[in-house]
Amino acid sequence: MSIRPGIAFGACALLFSAAAALSHELPAAGQDPLAAQAKADQAKAAAASRILFEDVRIFDGVSSELSPPSSVLVQGNIIRKVSRDKIPADGARVINGGGRTLMPGLIDMHWHSMFVGVPVAAAMTQDVGYLNIVAGTEARKTLMRGFTTVRDLGGAVFSLKQAVDQGVIPGPRIYPSGAMISVTSGHGDFRSMQDLPRAQGVPASRHDIAGDSAIADSPDEVRLRTREQLMHGATQIKLTAGGGVSSPHSPLDVVTFTEPEVRAAVEAATNWGTYVAVHAYTPAAIQQAIKAGVLCIEHGSLMDEETAQMMGKAGIWLSTQPFPDALADAFPKGSDQWEKAQEVFAGTDRTYQLAIKYKLKTAFGTDILFSSALAEQQGKILASLTRWYTPAQTLIMATGTNAQLLKLSGLRNPYRGELGVLREGALADLLLVDGDPLQDISLIGDPDKNFLLIMKDGVIFKDKAAAP
Ligand SMILES: [Zn+2]
Repeated sequence: MSIRPGIAFGACALLFSAAAALSHELPAAGQDPLAAQAKADQAKAAAASRILFEDVRIFDGVSSELSPPSSVLVQGNIIRKVSRDKIPADGARVINGGGRTLMPGLIDMHWHSMFVGVPVAAAMTQDVGYLNIVAGTEARKTLMRGFTTVRDLGGAVFSLKQAVDQGVIPGPRIYPSGAMISVTSGHGDFRSMQDLPRAQGVPASRHDIAGDSAIADSPDEVRLRTREQLMHGATQIKLTAGGGVSSPHSPLDVVTFTEPEVRAAVEAATNWGTYVAVHAYTPAAIQQAIKAGVLCIEHGSLMDEETAQMMGKAGIWLSTQPFPDALADAFPKGSDQWEKAQEVFAGTDRTYQLAIKYKLKTAFGTDILFSSALAEQQGKILASLTRWYTPAQTLIMATGTNAQLLKLSGLRNPYRGELGVLREGALADLLLVDGDPLQDISLIGDPDKNFLLIMKDGVIFKDKAAAP
């Protein structure tokens, strides 16, 4: 066979010029040309779509009563019109709600997309490709439970978010933190003693490199790791300010970062237009975080009166969870982690009492880890808030109130528009519920049966409205 150098050279030249063109147009984070095209296509299709809900009673995410029978017109990804009078269909697809409830999609403010579907051992050892595929499956299930938005508080979630936002796979809107930032030995340090010591500035482990958690042991390292997450597109920064349940080396009572270290993260995040949330159970860890400028406390399960008062005065958010006892079963009974879970869960009631007493700005999340079966309980866990709140207060927390906390991301918010409310101009994330969840909150616990229609960003992902 003869060699034809001309063609070979031509092909090479083509390759080179293609490579040159590509490298010339190398996208910045979040500006992938494929994503841009997909987004443009979606926007075009969505803008043309008009969906009219008739005869629905509205829970709007703010008010504790359902509206009288109403009509809601969705155009593209926006709720265009809400009216008690009939809205002309004008070619829109008409969905007769039959007097059922139309409400905003639910929001989970403490979620770990990358860890929800795998046992703890798999999360620590499996390849990132496998973990992403499992997370993709879980993302679809999350959306099918009516959770149209999650705030992700730790994990290498940026690729998953990109795939969901491009429409590659169904899933909720994701507000990513990226790696949760911890100190050596803190909550999020899953290394073994064989991994010690490390030099400053060097990634600690494969978790560091994968972007699940990041170890930082000085203000400079905290700044660096914070900025790395922001570069990836983090909408907020997550630090672990005290000991935790699932991590092997951190006792519950310890304060992990120093105040200057937390402040370094707060400065970097604030300069970037966003905020820091910290994992903290104890008064000492919470109080130090507040002094350093943190705006949101995750869990707060062991807090006291003084700390609650301080949070109330400073207007600090409490993002806490009614942990189901089954969550402790992710750990071997009698193990260190299991013991720690018992201690933290015992504080849940007191924390909600304090939140109510001091009128804390309180957000709802579940923090489900390492169990797909438990994740199926996401709606039931939300409904369990009625131990402390009315059904209306519960649903307002998981929609309109949670959305207020999302706004702390400022211009780093990846989804322009209002979430968590059903009103004209808001983003069209909607659930059609077969019944009145303000009367019967348990409806939320069985989304498969009771959510007849699930819409996110104007796109219908579940449609049983015609044949309930
Ligand atoms: Zn968490």
